[in-house]
Amino acid sequence: MLSQPRSRREFAAWADVPDADWDDWRWQFRNRIATPEQLEAAFPLTTSERDAARRSRDLFRLGITPHWATLIDPDDPQCPMRRQAIPLLDELSTSAFEHTDPLDEDAHRPVPGVVHRYPDRVLLLVTHECPLYCRYCTRRRIVGDHDGNHSDTLHAALDYIRATPAVRDVLVSGGEPLSLGDRRLEEILAALRGIPHVEIVRIGTRAPVAMPQRITPALVAMLRRHHPLWLNTHFNHPLELAPPATRAAMERLVDAGIPTGNQTVLLAGVNDCPVVMKRLLHELVKLRCRPYYLYSCDHSQGLSHFRVPIERGLQILESLWGHTSGYAIPQFVVDAPGGGGKIPLLPDYRAGEGLLRNFEGRLFRYADAGSAGPPAPAPCPQCGGRHGPHAPEPFTATAR
Ligand SMILES: *Cc1c(COP(=O)(O)O)cnc(C)c1O
Ligand code: SF4
Repeated sequence: MLSQPRSRREFAAWADVPDADWDDWRWQFRNRIATPEQLEAAFPLTTSERDAARRSRDLFRLGITPHWATLIDPDDPQCPMRRQAIPLLDELSTSAFEHTDPLDEDAHRPVPGVVHRYPDRVLLLVTHECPLYCRYCTRRRIVGDHDGNHSDTLHAALDYIRATPAVRDVLVSGGEPLSLGDRRLEEILAALRGIPHVEIVRIGTRAPVAMPQRITPALVAMLRRHHPLWLNTHFNHPLELAPPATRAAMERLVDAGIPTGNQTVLLAGVNDCPVVMKRLLHELVKLRCRPYYLYSCDHSQGLSHFRVPIERGLQILESLWGHTSGYAIPQFVVDAPGGGGKIPLLPDYRAGEGLLRNFEGRLFRYADAGSAGPPAPAPCPQCGGRHGPHAPEPFTATAR
């Protein structure tokens, strides 16, 4: 396994590129490896990779930033960075339970640019383009589509949010929202900030991983004008956090008061190892990035070679709880097929009546406080309302 990024001098195509170009995100974006020929010129490929790359137009768009290419070990077909970015023929095999829209997002789209699945928050999809096309992408059916984003779509999406007072949290997503320029992004953020009921804005981005050059001082200065703003990153492997440009990008964000949280997808052959996972989580915490979600890979088509059994995910969580800082432990979630939403999963530490199991496997008696019982009919002394243990809020999704 490669433990350090390679120098760009090792790539014939980029050996003579001046720093000023390499460090410019627009150069990184424009110079993505996007064709089978470019991929073959950059790496010795296996037969499966070469055939899959040639058919990638029918599968899912090919796109690898020069930055990401330096993370790939050219001599190791099992390299985790390679698995995430270079297609394999396995993508052609589909199972009966797989869908093109496994999360049924289309049914929860009141307008094309919005996914409204939960009562108080929405996804705002601002672009379908990404600097790096991750082979396991959930939205592989729409991401990578050039004609996907029009300003009409965006206007209709903002109108929907404006007209829906229940929405207090907007997650700006895509595609890669940071593939838009600063000015366009600022227009979107300013429009959201102009909506009184939108309390917080989050940006979901893989730019610090795929194209850290994007996190410029100018971008960060713009973002901080729109607080409270949170940023969700997407790191899957500790090597992704090794490049100095990525570390500088993460520091710059947090120094601007932007809290960062990380989502990881649990992927076979990438991070389904407790040692690799813990190293990733520790590296994140060192950069003041809080591990947020660990996703079980969903049921998009052609991803069987990436899926990890839920039981294995739970074992990885067990290897973390009590063994390392609580700050380093993400929530393990399954995004339920058919649009059920995220379902959190935790190893069960209850070991029968009155017994709990600790992280070392030892059993402890614990006298619980009686039964939870039916909801009290009296007003709650804390909030004054009448509610059961769940306090469900009324929510009717306004699907088309
Ligand atoms: C994940 C997701 C959100 C955000 O959920 P949080 O649990 O608040 O991070 C919102 N909308 C959709 C459709 C999602 O998939
Ligand atoms: S960056 Fe996100 S949206 Fe883009 S290909 Fe990767 S997982 Fe999909």
